[in-house]
Amino acid sequence: MTSSRIGIFGGTFDPPHLGHLLLAENAADQLNLNVVLFAPAADPPHKQGERIASAEHRLAMVEMAIADNPRFALSRVDVDRPGPHYTFDMIALLAQQYPADELYFLLGGDALRDFTQWNNPDVIIANARLAVMQRPGAQIDLSSMEAELPGLIARTTFVNAPEIGISATTIRERLRRSHSIRYQVPAAVERYITERGLYLG
Ligand code: ATP
Repeated sequence: MTSSRIGIFGGTFDPPHLGHLLLAENAADQLNLNVVLFAPAADPPHKQGERIASAEHRLAMVEMAIADNPRFALSRVDVDRPGPHYTFDMIALLAQQYPADELYFLLGGDALRDFTQWNNPDVIIANARLAVMQRPGAQIDLSSMEAELPGLIARTTFVNAPEIGISATTIRERLRRSHSIRYQVPAAVERYITERGLYLG
């Protein structure tokens, strides 16, 4: 059996946008990934209390966003498992499912900055390498993070990509104010949002 290189892209994807797609495509390209699994979060612990679109809407939107890319696939690994939904146990689960493969956990620079505060980040880097894309406004001091989480630097790769100042938060704000989100999300996702009146309230 030949081993594969698998990207895992967890996130709220509320909604999925071009920043996500660009991160995944550049990671796949530079790290020679066979596949990137987009794994929408069911009930992310850090976003409790905020209103988010239902997992089924987010899954449907991710499916549309990635439909034309043969290297991208939707994963229900996080939505279909019982909570609490921490990243470390999702990664450990995937490492069990793909014991012969090399896992890369994709994340933006903003997420890496807080990474040492996550639950059991040592479990994450024991099971996967990190593939990080810079994000505007997110300065990272990897060496001070290494002091808190030994082994981090050796397990982290930076992905070269244009910095994209698109976030799901600004997209939701724009929708609330009836501003255009064209070219920030795939056309099919924009249609899905408009037809269902998501993010208006
Ligand atoms: P929100 O604004 O609701 O926090 P988001 O746009 O950051 O959402 P998430 O679904 O929370 O989207 O992000 C999933 C992952 O994608 C995170 O690791 C995040 O850092 C990364 N990411 C999202 N947008 C970008 C971007 N424009 N550039 C780089 N990384 C990004």
